[in-house]
Amino acid sequence: MNSAQLKIHLLCRGIQLDSSVDLDADARPILRTRGGLASGIEGILPGGLSINIPVYESFAADSPFSLVKKEEKYYVFRDEEELSEIVLPPNPKFYSKKTSSGKLMSRIGVMQGTYLGIYPTDICEFWKTDPPSNCRFCSVGLNLGSTEDIDKTDADLLETTLAAMQEEKITFVHFNAGYLGGKELEILEHYIELIKKNTPLMVGLQAAPSADYSIYERLKKKGVDHLSFCIELFDEERLKEVCPGKSRTIGRKQYLDTIEACSKIFMRGRVSGEIIAGLEPAEKTIEAIDYFAKMGVVSTVCIFRPLIGTQYENLPSPKPEDMIPIFQHLYRTTLYNRIPLGMAPNIKVSIVMLAEEGRGLIEKKGFRLRLCEMRNSFIKFFISLYFKIRIRYGKIRLGL
Ligand code: SF4
Repeated sequence: MNSAQLKIHLLCRGIQLDSSVDLDADARPILRTRGGLASGIEGILPGGLSINIPVYESFAADSPFSLVKKEEKYYVFRDEEELSEIVLPPNPKFYSKKTSSGKLMSRIGVMQGTYLGIYPTDICEFWKTDPPSNCRFCSVGLNLGSTEDIDKTDADLLETTLAAMQEEKITFVHFNAGYLGGKELEILEHYIELIKKNTPLMVGLQAAPSADYSIYERLKKKGVDHLSFCIELFDEERLKEVCPGKSRTIGRKQYLDTIEACSKIFMRGRVSGEIIAGLEPAEKTIEAIDYFAKMGVVSTVCIFRPLIGTQYENLPSPKPEDMIPIFQHLYRTTLYNRIPLGMAPNIKVSIVMLAEEGRGLIEKKGFRLRLCEMRNSFIKFFISLYFKIRIRYGKIRLGL
C-alpha cells in the first residue's frame, strides 16, 4: 500500500493505539476542529501526505490498523504487518502560549496539516434554530465554547497567526464561518484585511455563498487567495435530508450559481466546491466533480467521518474501496480540465485527501495524463516560486 492508498484507508477505518504509543509526549493534542471534520491524530505519511486519523470514533475500534512506537519512531501496522512509517508532528509550542488578552492560542486557531485554521465568528445559526437545523454530520456547535473561544479579538488572531508563522512556518491561514444570516462575508472581510495588512501569508475563506457577487470582486482586490463553498451533497434531496438549514435557507441553486460566478472572478483553481463522499451514492460525487471541473473549479472531497456527539455518529464510515475510484477520477478530471493543482507552497491538508494526492492511486497513466502532469509541473514551478519569494520577503520585513 502506498501513502495515497494508506491515507484513504486510514481516513475510512481509523486506527487503534498500541500500548507503546505516548501521545501526550509525542503528538499534537487531539482537538475537535471546525467544519465538523476532524478529531484525530495528526500525522505525516511518506511523501509528505498529511493526515488526521480518527481514533476515538466507534468505527476506529474495529480498525485493522494500529499505531505502534518502536525505538522512538512511529509505524502503521495492519494486523501483524508493518505497513509504513508515520511522523507525528509534535505539539506546537504556541498552543500553550497565551495571547495578550490571556487566551490560550490553541483556542484561537488550530493547525490542520501545515496551515492554521480559524473559526473567528459566532456559532452557525443553524445550530440555534428550534429545533436545530444544523447539518447532521457537523460538530461545530459542539466545539465553540468547549474547545474554541467564541470571542476572538484582532490581537488574539494576529498574535496566534504570527506565532504559528514563526514556529510552524505556515504559509496559509484559512478562515471558516458557518451561516450568520448572510453577514458572514462582511465579518470575515475584516479578518482578511487584518491578516493581509500585517502578514505576507496566503488567505483562504470558506463561507456561505452570497447572491451579491460584487463582494467577491472586493475580496479578490483585498488579496483573498482561495475561496471554498461547502455544498456538501450534490443530490438535492439528500442535501435536504442531511443539511436542512442550509438547503432551506440558502439552497443548492445559490451554491452552484455563486461558485460559477466566483470561478469567473477568480482564476482557475482558486475556487473549490466542497462535497462529502460517503453520504450520497459515489456517482453523485463524481457528477459533482465533473460539474465543477468544467468551470475550472476544483472539488474538495471530504470523506464522511461519523464524529462523536453528532447526529450521524452511529452511521458507518465509508469503505475505502468505494472512495478510491472517486479520488482517481478527481485527479484525472482536474488535470484534464487544466485546473492547476498544488500551486501554493507548503499547504498539506490533513483532514481531506487533496486532488493532487490522487496521483498515487493511478496505476497506469496514459499519454494524455502524463502530458497534463508535465504542464501542471511547469506552471507549478513558477507560481510556487512567486509565493515562496513573497512570503520570504514578508517574513524578513516582519523580522521573523
Ligand atoms: S453550515 Fe452546516 S456544516 Fe457549516 S457550520 Fe453550519 S451546521 Fe455546520
